[in-house]
Amino acid sequence: MTAGDGGGLATGERVLLVDPRGRRYLVRLTSGGAFHTHAGIVAHDDLIGRPEGAAVAASTGRRFLVFRPTLAEVVLKMPRGAQVLYPKDLGAILLAADVGPGMVVLEAGVGSGALSMALLRAGAEVVGYEVRPDFAAQARANVAALLGEDVAYRVEERDVYEGIDERGLDRVVLDLPEPWRALPHLEEALRPGGILLSYLPSITQVAELRRELDRRRFAMAETAELLRRTWHVEARSVRPDHRMVAHTGFLTTARLLAPEEGQAGEGPGGGAGLSGPGPGLSPAR
Ligand code: SAH
Repeated sequence: MTAGDGGGLATGERVLLVDPRGRRYLVRLTSGGAFHTHAGIVAHDDLIGRPEGAAVAASTGRRFLVFRPTLAEVVLKMPRGAQVLYPKDLGAILLAADVGPGMVVLEAGVGSGALSMALLRAGAEVVGYEVRPDFAAQARANVAALLGEDVAYRVEERDVYEGIDERGLDRVVLDLPEPWRALPHLEEALRPGGILLSYLPSITQVAELRRELDRRRFAMAETAELLRRTWHVEARSVRPDHRMVAHTGFLTTARLLAPEEGQAGEGPGGGAGLSGPGPGLSPAR
């Protein structure tokens, strides 16, 4: 059942079927099962036992390809409650937040669990805070479908703005509308040098977050966005695709400073400039 397993496709495994026009479908294999599309019916028994990368004929004679799905393919096809992060951002988040094996990461909100999967696959131990019980359940199910039950993953149904119980966290990754409301708790929960990463769709939210980071015990703040443009490559037509996902969100990172000697952890730290009190920007949503 594990991806990366070089053996034949097995009953119970989730596979990616690709039709003759390149359309992709995520299918769980069952003995005697059948997958219906307008390009024909594919019998699961024709897939079970075959290697990845095999071509199989549907009832119409048209050929389908079968693979074990990548993490990005699962994210784009899995059931979702909340909007998921796009694979281009998931990849960038892992490096920007420097997530690696054995690190303890707090994630809020958890949504459909796409980011949870990427963090877990990078070897982190993940604690998730999610206010909506239905989303928390969806995330747990999505993670179990990809990685099984035996993973270092716990989702709590709670509001991160109201407090964080964990201490000594290596990383905190936030995908929610008002991340600045979590900063006071993060100063207690993150370890010095730990990294905060926040994903935000609107630049007015970023401005508000950056202003709060400057007022608090954070430094090295940086904001970036990623544009990914695919290309059409066919015979003499080699050019960018006409359509692209032009905007998803901004990634902001910052690092927690050590408390100053003789100070009890609260108060302004190494923030430069912009630190005077002033009216806050109103949240975008
Ligand atoms: N990154 C997720 C998607 C998150 S969508 C993924 O890749 O699948 C944002 C989530 O934040 C929603 O599920 C919402 O319910 C949750 N949320 C919003 N405010 C929150 C808060 N204060 N504490 C915890 N979760 C919150």
